Amino acid sequence: KANRLIKPEGSVVEVAGRKIGCGHIGIIAGPCSVESREQIISIAKDVKTSGAGFLRGGAFKPRTSPYSFQGLREDGLKLLVEARKETGLPIVTEIMSASHLDIFEEHVDVMQVGARNMQNFELLKEVGKSKVPVLLKRGMSSSIEEFIMSAEYIMAEGNENVILCERGIRTFENYTRNTLDLSAIPAIKKLSHLPVIVDPSHAAGLAWMVEPLSKAAIAVGADGLMIEVHNDPANAKCDGQQSITPLQFTNLMHTINQLAVIE
Ligand code: PEP
Ligand code: MN
Repeated sequence: KANRLIKPEGSVVEVAGRKIGCGHIGIIAGPCSVESREQIISIAKDVKTSGAGFLRGGAFKPRTSPYSFQGLREDGLKLLVEARKETGLPIVTEIMSASHLDIFEEHVDVMQVGARNMQNFELLKEVGKSKVPVLLKRGMSSSIEEFIMSAEYIMAEGNENVILCERGIRTFENYTRNTLDLSAIPAIKKLSHLPVIVDPSHAAGLAWMVEPLSKAAIAVGADGLMIEVHNDPANAKCDGQQSITPLQFTNLMHTINQLAVIE
C-alpha cells in the first residue's frame, strides 16, 4: 500500500485542514518534552507566530535511562490540549504503548511512533487500526526498506495517513548525535508515495546545525521539518543541546520561506 506505483502522484496527509505531502510543506515545532503549562504555552505561541503549522511536545518520553525525566505523561497530554486551545495548532506527540491508544485518539492530532518503536510491530498494528494520522520515525539502525515496511504494517490495518520522518541513523561518526541520511528522502520518494519529513534536531544533536540541515532537507525534497524549540535550552529537561530558541526558530522560518512556500 505504501508503494509508489499505487499513487505515482504522491499522497497528501491532511491534519486539521493542513496538508503535508505533494508540495505542501509542514513545519512541526516545539520542545522535546512538555515540562510545564508556562513552558508549553509560551513555546506554542512563539512557534505559531513564526509560522509553524503544528506543535510538538513529548508527554511520554522514551529515555535511554529509567532515571531520566520520563515526561509528564497524561498531564503532559492535557497541557498540549491547552496549548492547542490557545494557539489553534494541531498537536503531535509520541505514543509508546498501545494501552494509551484511547487517550491519544481522544486528544491528539498526530500520533508519533518514535525511532525506538519503529519495529514494535504490535504497536504499529494498533495505531494502524486508528484513524488518527501517524508520524513514523525511522529506527536509528533501520534500512530504508525496513522503514517502509513498518509504514506498511500501519497501512495494512487500514490507516493510510502515514507521514515518514528521517531523523538520522547511527554511523561510525560521532561528531553529530546521528548522521542525517539525506539520500533517504529521494530514495523513499522513489519507492513510496508517502510524505517524508526531516528532523534535523535529533539527527545532528547540535542546535547550531539545525538550520543548515533544514535547508538541505528542503533542497532534497522533504515535505516538512520537525524542529525542537525551547525557551530555555540550557535548562531543558531533555535534548537542550539540540534545541533552538524561539528567536532562532523565527530566523530559521525566514530562511526556509526563501526556499519553499510554507503553508
Ligand atoms: C522525539 O521526537 O521526541 C524523539 C524521541 O525522537 P526519536 O524517536 O527520533 O529519537
Ligand atoms: Mn528530543
